[in-house]
Amino acid sequence: MKARILLIEDNAANLELARYLLAAVGHEILLAANGAQGLDVARAEQPDLIVSDLQMPVMDGYELIAELKRDPACSTIPVIALTAFSMPGDESRVMQAGFDGYLSKPIEPEQFSAQIADLLLSNRRAAQSPPASA
Ligand code: MN
Repeated sequence: MKARILLIEDNAANLELARYLLAAVGHEILLAANGAQGLDVARAEQPDLIVSDLQMPVMDGYELIAELKRDPACSTIPVIALTAFSMPGDESRVMQAGFDGYLSKPIEPEQFSAQIADLLLSNRRAAQSPPASA
């Protein structure tokens, strides 16, 4: 499925690689270089999915997701962390922070767009699932 995807990453080479791979399969791509820029774009453009680096200047990925979840206009947008998992415990910290999933860096060019497609599908299914009955 085609989607509007906001990519937030301070590493220009990673940002360009992700943009290239996702645009190649037809997604509309929005770009930001840090969490503060990304928050502005998310609020203005309401993307279908956000893919965000964690370690960034100005506003990191953890501050970003806290701000997104605090904003009723953005709190339901799925957010995927792009992480190097450099520290022990990063994986559980990412999910506890409210991210809807994560992809480990380095970006794998042959798998990235398929990984994003899977995450789009699973998050759309989750959004459409009726609440579990008591
Ligand atoms: Mn970074």
